[in-house]
Amino acid sequence: MTDKLAKLRHELAVANRILAHEGIIDAFGHVSIRHPDDPGRYFLSRSRSPELVGPDDILEFDLDSQPIEPPAAHLYAERVIHGEIYKARPDVAAVCHHHAPAVMPFCISGDPVVPVFHLGAAMGAVAPFWDSRDEFGDTNLLVVKHAEGASLARALGKHSIVLMRRHGATVVGASLRELVFRAIYSCDNARYLSEAKRLGNFSPLTPGEIEMAQAIYQLPTAQNRAWEYWETRLVKRGGMPAGSMQVAAAPQRSPSRSQARVGGTGTPAKVTVKKTAKKAAARKPVTPKGGRRR
Ligand code: MN
Repeated sequence: MTDKLAKLRHELAVANRILAHEGIIDAFGHVSIRHPDDPGRYFLSRSRSPELVGPDDILEFDLDSQPIEPPAAHLYAERVIHGEIYKARPDVAAVCHHHAPAVMPFCISGDPVVPVFHLGAAMGAVAPFWDSRDEFGDTNLLVVKHAEGASLARALGKHSIVLMRRHGATVVGASLRELVFRAIYSCDNARYLSEAKRLGNFSPLTPGEIEMAQAIYQLPTAQNRAWEYWETRLVKRGGMPAGSMQVAAAPQRSPSRSQARVGGTGTPAKVTVKKTAKKAAARKPVTPKGGRRR
């Protein structure tokens, strides 16, 4: 395996854990990335809880969601969501499917999710709503057939997120970090929208505000800063994959009050990186024989 693909597997494992730690995915839900050198393939974990996914769990699939090598483990049943979206959207490099509590009230009520705060602009103007009954009638609500995945991809259209009736949401990004950024802040947006509706008054950002705010949040500097924040939270919890390069505690130099403020623009505290493979390996959870099918 090339260094590039090893790094990609590690980053995808970290993305799984960040999204789990931030409450987007729990026992279920999954995140994938398109193969950087072969647009006809993508990477996705074997079936296991995202918080436990490590680089060795990451498998390679074609766009019909068939594993490239015969699998020795259970696979996510809903992986057609990923394959069918990669087929329909050449611009998409990463996909996350989740059932986050923040979006579920909207998936049940059918009320639209619109961006209502600056970082909420990352989701785009409005999330389309996919109702599996329209084409498939009664189902168990899981998206397991190619036709179901293709239908969902059509509902997503050119949007960044699609709500799924009584099920959850699927989010896409032009990169893994953009995807994670969008998945987390679209859930924050849904939560704030729910609260604002309870207070009684809300209105969406204007199209101009969405466009200008998106221009900022699509910059790699913004996405990398957010990724660093979420990764550091994961490190502090001891949740990184075994053998990771871990961010150690910052040097003992008290930041000024202005630097310490949230959103302050002061020089960030210098961080040192060291390998804690031994410690991390000691924390590595016991790998079960095959994951739960989902
Ligand atoms: Mn699902």
